[in-house]
Amino acid sequence: MTRVLISGASVAGNAAAALLARRGCAVTVVERAPAIRTGGYAIDIRGVALEVAERMGVAAKARAHGTDTEGTSFVDAAGKRIATLPLGFGVLDPADIEIMKGDLTRLLHAEVPAGVEWIFGDTIEEIAGDRVTFRHAPPRRFDYIIGADGIHSRVRELVFGPSRQYLHHLGSSSAVFTAPNELGIERWQLVHSMPGRVVSVKTDKGSETVKVTLLYGGPMPSRDRAERLSAIETAFQGSGWVVPRLLELMRAAPDLYVAPNAQVRMPGWTAGRVALVGDAGYAPSSLTGQGTGMALVGAYVLAANLHDLPAYDRQMRGFVDANHKAALAPARGFAPKSELAVKLQNLSIRMLPYLPGKGLMIAAMTREARRAAGALRLPAAIS
Ligand SMILES: Cc1cc2nc3c(=O)[nH]c(=O)nc-3n(C[C@H](O)[C@H](O)[C@H](O)COP(=O)(O)OP(=O)(O)OC[C@H]3O[C@@H](n4cnc5c(N)ncnc54)[C@H](O)[C@@H]3O)c2cc1C
Repeated sequence: MTRVLISGASVAGNAAAALLARRGCAVTVVERAPAIRTGGYAIDIRGVALEVAERMGVAAKARAHGTDTEGTSFVDAAGKRIATLPLGFGVLDPADIEIMKGDLTRLLHAEVPAGVEWIFGDTIEEIAGDRVTFRHAPPRRFDYIIGADGIHSRVRELVFGPSRQYLHHLGSSSAVFTAPNELGIERWQLVHSMPGRVVSVKTDKGSETVKVTLLYGGPMPSRDRAERLSAIETAFQGSGWVVPRLLELMRAAPDLYVAPNAQVRMPGWTAGRVALVGDAGYAPSSLTGQGTGMALVGAYVLAANLHDLPAYDRQMRGFVDANHKAALAPARGFAPKSELAVKLQNLSIRMLPYLPGKGLMIAAMTREARRAAGALRLPAAIS
């Protein structure tokens, strides 16, 4: 039986574990956290990723567990709603599924057959050929090792070299946390843009809590919590609306997650019998809303080509490049640059529903992202 070790038990790791176990591999998953991480924000499944979700049998469940956001309003510094759009912010097409990352991870985890071995609270220390040393568990041998361990991947560092070779910061960062729904919104998202910064507050499923996202420019965030907090507070100093209160809530949040909006760019994702999947190999930056879809598609293509890893590299290349390219414009224009640009943005959003040919305009604005999301022909179904 082919022995496969997967490092990381999030979207890519659970999807790969489910698919490889179904193919008859003996799968072991090592995850640094003490359990599956079910926190997170809203993510989107679209394009080829929808087809993977269908083939894996999770699409209908994901739709049923989707966020129930009915609209997005843009608010000014006084909290006045100045423009409203239907649906959640990242939904490019009504067929897309918007779901909380934690819910998707849970659904994928439920697809993993019994018999897969889980090692929580541990990490790979060393890889020497087929021999893997863990921090806590005894060393073992595996036929294949898969790095599904995110943007700061340990497997990538050990086998392909230091992060600085591959991780390209796109000039902004996102801080995400859960907070009480003090604004009393229901099934809604509020967005407040300021020069160089954007704040979004979106209802969680049910309306007791909200997910807050703070998007701000600057260098790669420090990995030290205190430094991170003060960088965010400095970035949002002097903001209007409820931002000062949100900053207070951020300090108390149990699940604050700060991530650089960065791309992982690599010439290939395999070396011998080691492969990277998801953010570890090709994170496109969180501003595309494509990272999760790429993780799902990557897990599928990898599982289909486990015994021919160069084919995984070849089949993923065009898809990864298209999604990386589509991420660059949103990364450059992640926030309006001046007060005037904020006003123009709000005006154009407010006018959009009344403009003739608005469907064509929206299609043109989202064309590149939609094309990239569909830029791969999936290999034959995995049995
Ligand atoms: C702020 C933010 C907003 C985002 N918004 C969106 C969005 O709207 N839409 C979208 O599609 N995507 C979004 N993304 C991206 C999306 O979350 C990722 O692209 C997607 O989760 C990739 O999944 P993954 O499984 O590859 O990696 P991750 O979800 O990062 O999971 C990596 C896993 O590996 C584990 N791990 C890490 N190191 C080790 C180690 N040494 N040993 C063992 N385990 C380890 C981690 O604990 C984690 O469980 C966003 C990302 C961020 C940061």
